[in-house]
Amino acid sequence: MKASEATELFVSRACDRLGLSPSIRRLLATPKREVQVEIPVEMDDGRLEVLIGYRVQHNNYRGPMKGGLRYHHEVDLDEVRALASLMTWKTAVVNIPYGGAKGGICVENSKLSVKEKERITRKFVDQIHDIVGPHTDIPAPDMGTNAETMAWFRNQWEKYHGFNPAVITGKPVEQYGAEGREEATGRGVGILAFKLLKRMGKTPKETRIALQGFGNVGFHAAKLLHESEFNVVAVSDVTGGYYRPEGLDIPDALRYSLQNKSLHGYENATRISNEELLALDVEILIPAALGGVITKANADAVRAKVIIEAANAPVDPEADEILAKKGTIVLPDILANAGGVTVSYFEWVQNLQYYKWGLNRVRQELDSVLSRAFEDVWQTAQDRHVSLRTAAFMIAIERVHRAGLLSGF
Ligand code: NAD
Repeated sequence: MKASEATELFVSRACDRLGLSPSIRRLLATPKREVQVEIPVEMDDGRLEVLIGYRVQHNNYRGPMKGGLRYHHEVDLDEVRALASLMTWKTAVVNIPYGGAKGGICVENSKLSVKEKERITRKFVDQIHDIVGPHTDIPAPDMGTNAETMAWFRNQWEKYHGFNPAVITGKPVEQYGAEGREEATGRGVGILAFKLLKRMGKTPKETRIALQGFGNVGFHAAKLLHESEFNVVAVSDVTGGYYRPEGLDIPDALRYSLQNKSLHGYENATRISNEELLALDVEILIPAALGGVITKANADAVRAKVIIEAANAPVDPEADEILAKKGTIVLPDILANAGGVTVSYFEWVQNLQYYKWGLNRVRQELDSVLSRAFEDVWQTAQDRHVSLRTAAFMIAIERVHRAGLLSGF
């Protein structure tokens, strides 16, 4: 199933419950604008490479559009379209005043030198600078991009439009970035894991966790969960999985991964495959890498009682149904990984006001936004007898629909 079809199916299930008309559904599903650009770039060896970049602006009824930039070899228009739509629902479910967008470049990111990545980013900005801006569409990091990439983006955009750091979020802290932005998505996963656990009457110590992906999101989620006394028994990255039934020494694995740029060769755990990690006997499974990793082919094998979707779209709709029948609770991506866009919003607010918050304030405000959103979603799921995913989409769709009605579409 294509990524956009999967998102549409989840949206459609929520629209059914809300009783929305076909024309409103079509309006909410259709992206406002889709842009595909050519990025000709000279590589370090003198070769001319021609890459394709995308920006999809899905919806702006609730505010300027917001969404990350992904550099990955599987990026295509369909994936970016699906991720842009998820951003619309994500910003709505946590109730921050944004719409949704997403961008990306189809490129083998891990093979790029720093200089190549910088040239590619600057060329991309040359192509899309006039459709993004602090009050229209504000990009941020996603897979394959980080604070450094955001700094290049801002610098290139300002060559056209003048000083305005609010054009992009996830910047280095020294360059108008927010304290706590880098940890925010992983931290949000940790905050929500606590909330969920409390509702289930469990304590962190009796909760084993398997986590797929050890990049920005997985790394910070593992750190916070370990510090909060959860028992993280397995982690993985693109090189495979690392398992220790009695609990991993997460600070040790973090150090190793930073020093060696991956977990490859990590010896203080048993090597397992990424597929085996997904099927481990744990209380919580956290996919924090790619989309589409749990499908009808492996959903039956999943033994976790709870899945927290730290990655975007890791569970496809067919797998979602199988998991629901088994009684697995799935905390959906549009809530589970919303910590990043929430702190991006705080960064944008600080940039617009030229006023810097401290880390404690960022963490407190993040906790309060996510806690409120969690309670909304949990309560709606109980009241309407739907899954957490359908409840989250229902809340989000209602908010976007109402904003459209009020402003006249
Ligand atoms: P990242 O590039 O920093 O890290 C990705 C991680 O996934 C790396 O550890 C990589 O080794 C691993 N990985 C790649 N291919 C894999 C595979 N086939 N099997 C197992 N692991 C694999 O990316 P990130 O920023 O951590 O993003 C991870 C996910 O979270 C993505 O789905 C992204 O859309 C989502 N997300 C990120 C943010 C954010 O703030 N960074 C916010 C919301 C959602």
